[in-house]
Amino acid sequence: MAEETKLKLQEVVCPSCNAAILKFNPNALINECPSCHKKLVNPLVKPKEVVAPERIIPFTTDEQTFENAMTNALINQDYVPTNIFEHCNVDKVVQTYLPMYLFEGTYNASWSCESAYEDQKVDIKRNWTDSGKTISTKTVKKWRPQNGNAAGNFAFLCLANESDKIPTELREFTRLFPYDVMMSKEYADGMIDFNDENMMTFERNADETLVWQKHGKDMVEETAKNAALNQIGNQEIRNFRASSSWNLTTKGKYVYAPFWFVYYNYAGGQFHFLMDGIGQRTEYSYPVNQEEVDFVKGKEKIKGYVTWLWVLALLLWYVFNFTTAFVYLVIWLIGKIVVNKMMDKQIQERLENSKAQRQAGANRI
Ligand SMILES: [Zn+2]
Repeated sequence: MAEETKLKLQEVVCPSCNAAILKFNPNALINECPSCHKKLVNPLVKPKEVVAPERIIPFTTDEQTFENAMTNALINQDYVPTNIFEHCNVDKVVQTYLPMYLFEGTYNASWSCESAYEDQKVDIKRNWTDSGKTISTKTVKKWRPQNGNAAGNFAFLCLANESDKIPTELREFTRLFPYDVMMSKEYADGMIDFNDENMMTFERNADETLVWQKHGKDMVEETAKNAALNQIGNQEIRNFRASSSWNLTTKGKYVYAPFWFVYYNYAGGQFHFLMDGIGQRTEYSYPVNQEEVDFVKGKEKIKGYVTWLWVLALLLWYVFNFTTAFVYLVIWLIGKIVVNKMMDKQIQERLENSKAQRQAGANRI
């Protein structure tokens, strides 16, 4: 008889009755044996008392919504390889509540700048041929001072955790987050299932004053400046200055905000996709099909070459005459329009074809 090969299976077994425990939650402090109903304490779980948040923005999306958002983003993103869905490895999806500080208040910015306007300048020249005078006007650009006031409200969340346990991409995404008061609720016990093995939670460990000084102040100043620039509109300006003051009405209220996060791998590279738990914002990185990028660049180059062919008209004018040059220019212009259209069509066809292939790939899995 041939020697049997042995396998080493890992089993979670009840220490009292030896029954196999098939559903074991590694995050739960206490699991119950389904056979003898004895409570089993997991020594790897360390209960820790942390301060509860004052408010919470509950998840309004599920894992399927998150996965669909990711699939759609990658289908519609140009230059993503066509076999992305067949050849990518998706890590475990992370669902998490992140500790954040809410900052609310009002700002007031006074601004000044110089804006451009057009003025007519009159030139009087002595005309030597008929000893008369020629009056010509030309338009000149002048600057005049402008100033104003912008005021408004602000409300945003800042990440309240400084540890490196949160992936860098998620940390960047959540550093500053617009706060939608309609989505948040007063926190009550039981709103988060801390035993849920798919849910990750982090405690706050950053000081609200430091967080405010580090990110909040800049954010308010940026908001005030943008409001001022918005008032100025599309004018050409120079020497823009804004000074802002603000009144903080909520300083660092502790809020739990929901996020989805996943890493995926393709051709040796690591990429990520993330979305907030209410499905309003996403952010992601993606692999690029370099061949397709080069294809599009090549077509754009051809358009560029054709544009420069007008220069030949100068040569024709020099060698022959104006009419020849003019006829050439007309032919060149028609040619340019035709070539541009052809190139744009080829680019569009290629990108749309790739998109269709990604869509087909997504449908297959
Ligand atoms: Zn048991």
